[in-house]
Amino acid sequence: MPFPDSETVKLPTPRGALAPAVAIPVRWRASTRARRVSLMVCPRSGTVVVTLPPRSGRRAGLALIREHETWIRERLAALSPAVEFAPDTELLLGGEAHVIRHEPRARGGAFLDGKAIVVTGAREFLRRRVTDFLRVEARRRIGVLTLPHAAALGVKPRAIRVKDTRSRWGSCAPDGTLAFSWRLVMAPEWVTDYVVAHEVAHLRELNHSPRFWALVAELTPHRDGAVEWLRVEGPALLRVG
Ligand SMILES: [Zn+2]
Repeated sequence: MPFPDSETVKLPTPRGALAPAVAIPVRWRASTRARRVSLMVCPRSGTVVVTLPPRSGRRAGLALIREHETWIRERLAALSPAVEFAPDTELLLGGEAHVIRHEPRARGGAFLDGKAIVVTGAREFLRRRVTDFLRVEARRRIGVLTLPHAAALGVKPRAIRVKDTRSRWGSCAPDGTLAFSWRLVMAPEWVTDYVVAHEVAHLRELNHSPRFWALVAELTPHRDGAVEWLRVEGPALLRVG
């Protein structure tokens, strides 16, 4: 497709209405069988999925989104709220429930204490500090998971980066740089390990050939389970933050 398969579409404030301007995540889905442009709101991811038949492009999709703007706004508003990082919020870390504990007078930034993520300092910095903590934690854990896989295949990533990519969990650039979503740190370790194994295997085979999948199978037995976990639970990880 000549345009990205997902993007954020901004709906401006309707004239005279109280509705705020909203940015809606849209996923474009090309379908050879569809006969008309259609849309649905995915309740798990809070994404508007627009199905485009052959010869219908992004422009037709955008027109349909504008036409059904009110309906989309209502559907999005009715969704379960995204988890926002706040004191006493529960979130997953390595697939296990942890709670955010705010200790405004303590020092030390953010750190783990058993099943608590302790965040110090003023409330206004809490969200940022939790995010930073999770990013650093993601980088550390992914780095650890990378080592045995890279050693097993005799490869070495040029660099490992952690980003907030919402369209993919991991990627491998032709120059050997691996990139991962920091949100993987919330998933069970065996799920993250599969994503890491997958990207490390791309350092040997930058494709999805049978040879590539054979390498993945050498590294992890969890391919099917992890793909399924990310399919079912992954979208919720995108609504946290
Ligand atoms: Zn791949």
